[in-house]
Amino acid sequence: MSEDGQVPSPLLDVSDLCTHYGRIQALHGVSVSVHRGSLVALVGANGAGKTTLLRTLSGVHRATGGRIVFDGRDITRARADLRVRSGISQVPEGRQMFGPMSVEDNLNLGAYTRPIAESRRSIGRIYAMFPVLEERRAQPAGTLSGGQQQMLSIGRALMSQPRLLLLDEPSMGLAPQLVAEIFSAIVALAKGGMTILLVEQNAQAALSVADFGYVIETGKTVISGRGRDLLQDDRVRQAYLGM
Ligand code: ATP
Repeated sequence: MSEDGQVPSPLLDVSDLCTHYGRIQALHGVSVSVHRGSLVALVGANGAGKTTLLRTLSGVHRATGGRIVFDGRDITRARADLRVRSGISQVPEGRQMFGPMSVEDNLNLGAYTRPIAESRRSIGRIYAMFPVLEERRAQPAGTLSGGQQQMLSIGRALMSQPRLLLLDEPSMGLAPQLVAEIFSAIVALAKGGMTILLVEQNAQAALSVADFGYVIETGKTVISGRGRDLLQDDRVRQAYLGM
């Protein structure tokens, strides 16, 4: 509740979102709200529609139904580049580095919407957050370890100074210790005030850190609740936590 007694509107409000690949329907009505400064996890099995959701939010795929409202504006039909300029930034699945380019050049690619002076300040903040990236700033990105590449991918998305960070499976392919490291970085970002929508197959890790969570099954959000409550929910425990 805000000081004037109003319930604040969410930064991102997605209702009944549908997306198709040709005639195949991948999202069948996804509804998700993300409030300012919160860390929201969306968990689900392989093929449930997590990546499709994030790509529809960032404008890579076109919604075929439903509505996306960001900061009070309907952006359902907005172009992807305008969404980045309005403050949405996506960390793609599989990191998608430019391997032969240096760490610093990869970071600078994320700042194409910002003036140069601002991107210098952003790069300083990112190096403070991930000192290993500064140590390796001149190294080709392809020579980094998987965990370091994930840090670089997050850093690159932060270069546009987003108000909403969309994170697609940051734990994918990482050893447990590195998963813990990446999740601590995500928690630190959230504590610093960043609004985050995190999609993950690793339900245990994601729901443990999330303020709020959703479960997506075959393109539909089916369960929602506070992260720690979902960890205790029998349906979630059986289907996603192997308990
Ligand atoms: P994963 O964790 O494996 O990435 P996901 O939850 O992100 O899974 P999506 O990749 O969004 O799931 O896929 C959702 C559905 O859309 C799946 O049934 C998938 O087979 C289908 N799909 C994804 N990409 C395409 C495509 N390019 N053409 C046709 N169908 C697709």
